Amino acid sequence: MTIYGGIEAGGTKFICVIGSGPDEILAETRVPTTTPDETIQHVIRFFKENSTDHPLRSVGVGSFGPVDLDTLSPTYGYITTTPKPGWMNTNLLGAIQEALSLPVTFDTDVNTAALGEQEWGAAQGMHDFLYVTIGTGIGGGALINNQLLHGLIHPEMGHIRLPHDFEADPFPGICPFHGDCFEGLASGPALQHRWGGHPAETLPENHPCWQLEAHYIALAVHNLVCDFSPQRVILGGGVMENRFLFPMVRQEVHNLVNGYIQTPLLTAHREDFIVPPGLGNRSGVLGALVLAMRSYPEE
Ligand code: ZN
Repeated sequence: MTIYGGIEAGGTKFICVIGSGPDEILAETRVPTTTPDETIQHVIRFFKENSTDHPLRSVGVGSFGPVDLDTLSPTYGYITTTPKPGWMNTNLLGAIQEALSLPVTFDTDVNTAALGEQEWGAAQGMHDFLYVTIGTGIGGGALINNQLLHGLIHPEMGHIRLPHDFEADPFPGICPFHGDCFEGLASGPALQHRWGGHPAETLPENHPCWQLEAHYIALAVHNLVCDFSPQRVILGGGVMENRFLFPMVRQEVHNLVNGYIQTPLLTAHREDFIVPPGLGNRSGVLGALVLAMRSYPEE
């Protein structure tokens, strides 16, 4: 059996695994995201200590961003303009590759999560779908024509602009770059700021925050469906762990599309169109394994 490494590099923690699939994880660790040096050293130590019995073929990294994915760029594999203190211009890929002397493949956390969902989760057999996470931040990965979409840099679905009715919702938003973009209005921290500091997970199901939240998510999904024409939209992240949001978002998307896009997936079969991740909160780290496996297949 060929063994791979996977790293989900997140803003609050790095999750590292060694294995070959969801049921074949040989070692795993979680490292809190502190300074780049300290965090990366922890990660490297985990792989060095745990790969002696199981030599790795390659490592996949799904990183928070923005990141540089242009293989010809001098800053390929860097975390670039992140507002996370200390992490701007961090050569994440280079540090790991050099320390482990292994081929390392690099992509966004949400693109790798999409890969995980295609291999083992809610998008098996699909070639055109989106994975959007709504949690501490908001981001989206896209598999289009069975390829991860990078484009100019990579999509930033969390920073699209949404219609914002200031009378109904005077909250200005919290994105440091845009104020009331999708992430600024609808991330977990945005919910908390808008509703008097109560963490999103403590707000009860009948609280008016959720109708507004479903409205913003539906506006975003509507836009993404018009842009990408996906066969499925997977909504993950901490906020979406409130499963009651799914029927609310599906209904609102149906209302917003207003019959224009003709498909039973937006009407009778909408439960099959907007879905939770099949891998729960493991899409990112398992997707990092898939990234490694597909980049360096078994010989
Ligand atoms: Zn923004």
